[in-house]
Amino acid sequence: MLEILNKTLKAGCQTTKYPDVPDVAPVGFRGKPELISDKCTFCGECIKACPPGVIRLTENSVEKILSLSYCGCIFCGRCEQVCKYGAVKLTQEYELSSKTKEDLVTSIRRRL
Ligand code: SF4
Ligand code: SF4
Repeated sequence: MLEILNKTLKAGCQTTKYPDVPDVAPVGFRGKPELISDKCTFCGECIKACPPGVIRLTENSVEKILSLSYCGCIFCGRCEQVCKYGAVKLTQEYELSSKTKEDLVTSIRRRL
């Protein structure tokens, strides 16, 4: 028992201090996709490419709304790959906890 305790003390802490200290995702990590409003043409290509279908385009008499729900997003990066305008980018962000589904929806708008 004393031997195990000794080994443990010598080894020190082997885990990170997350969440007290933020943990940075490695290069190439596919995190939360973000829509970039001033680059988007609302062409809908990302909608066709999204495997789980979590990107939606709606329109009313005043505006077009492109929304993306992180609830079903699988972080595949297809939306970023197909967007010719650089209007959707995957980020390094992975903290997506939320109390409601609505809080996991991001959207951009364009007035008609
Ligand atoms: S994010 Fe890109 S692919 Fe999607 S609607 Fe906007 S411009 Fe088109
Ligand atoms: S990363 Fe994949 S699943 Fe998530 S919104 Fe983009 S295409 Fe859809």
